[in-house]
Amino acid sequence: MTESQLRPPPLVEPAPGLTNQEIRRYSRHLIIPDINIEGQRRMRNAKVLCIGAGGLGSPVAMYLAAAGVGTLGLVDFDVVDETNLQRQIIHGQSDLGKKKLDSAEESIKEINPFVNVVKHETFVRSDNALELFRDYDLIIDGSDNFPTRYLVNDACVLLGKPYVWGSIFRFDGQLSVFWADHGPCYRCLFPEPPPPGMVPSCAEGGVLGMLCGTIGSLQTTEAIKLITGTGDLMIGRMLVYDALEMKFRELKVRKDPECPVCGKNPTVTELIDYDAFCGVTPDVADAAAQSQLTPKEVKALLDAGRDVAVIDVREPHEWDIVHLEGAKLIPMNDVVDRVSEIPQNGDVIVMCKVGQRSANVLQWLHSIGLTHVKHLAGGIDAWAREVDPGLPRY
Ligand SMILES: [Zn+2]
Repeated sequence: MTESQLRPPPLVEPAPGLTNQEIRRYSRHLIIPDINIEGQRRMRNAKVLCIGAGGLGSPVAMYLAAAGVGTLGLVDFDVVDETNLQRQIIHGQSDLGKKKLDSAEESIKEINPFVNVVKHETFVRSDNALELFRDYDLIIDGSDNFPTRYLVNDACVLLGKPYVWGSIFRFDGQLSVFWADHGPCYRCLFPEPPPPGMVPSCAEGGVLGMLCGTIGSLQTTEAIKLITGTGDLMIGRMLVYDALEMKFRELKVRKDPECPVCGKNPTVTELIDYDAFCGVTPDVADAAAQSQLTPKEVKALLDAGRDVAVIDVREPHEWDIVHLEGAKLIPMNDVVDRVSEIPQNGDVIVMCKVGQRSANVLQWLHSIGLTHVKHLAGGIDAWAREVDPGLPRY
């Protein structure tokens, strides 16, 4: 890695002088020789877009605001839910039910009223990403899904903008800065999205709350270094954090000359929506669509006194939180070994949390001839929503 790759010039020109009030507010930055008043003026002129006001977006937005970034764009479409509060620290109890954008804006204004907050209430899509990103100096990704990551990467490559990437799962975090003009992009590392159905969503995988703070703070650090031209960037490097072992490792990321978007002969020349990749394969979706029962239909069977075998394919620790009375636990990965426990006829229903794992299990059971098996659409989440509101949600 050459010096020019690790240390590109500052991304942002300095704003005119700071007011006395700003000088006081940012004094602990101004007395760091490598930042000084010029770096602070660059921050004031900076326009940063943060995708998502959730787990990573919370610390990112709060620290960017406190640091004095002039314009902070936020992209989100969600409302604050109780399950968010364990990690999304920009929101609080009194924000439940509010739009995340509004809740985040209130917190940001409380931290630093000088920040101009721009709210984009939308999904990032192939038909809006370029326009959304165009006015910003850099993009920070706080999303938790692959379709958005590929879209953000490709849009950043096409626009020549740096992409500060972070990802979190359970106890593991990752970080890098992708900037095709100075080093590799995300697709140099992961050319294509993972196979459909192989990716647990954040809602199913879980994440240690404070991991968001660790990775989000590191993303913000890289953003401030990019803006001010300070230090060595994470370009061409990936940080891998294991909170259980409390270890940070670093991997080299090389620019791939054959990269589908930033290589010599790019095949990705416009943005693609990868909606299908996060859910299930078309085969699985097909099997599920033809053999699913709604919670109300399942309840009607049970109420009618039918002998229904309900097979729960979630994990034991999920079962311990909540399960349906009379159901049988066979975790998804044990289904092949324990297939003999699944009744060969009658009413058999597989279920999970949201209906994704059960759809995969269903397709496999059908493929070995157990075509009488059906699955519970929407899983225990839908069951709690539609027929038993007293059940705990997780
Ligand atoms: Zn690339």
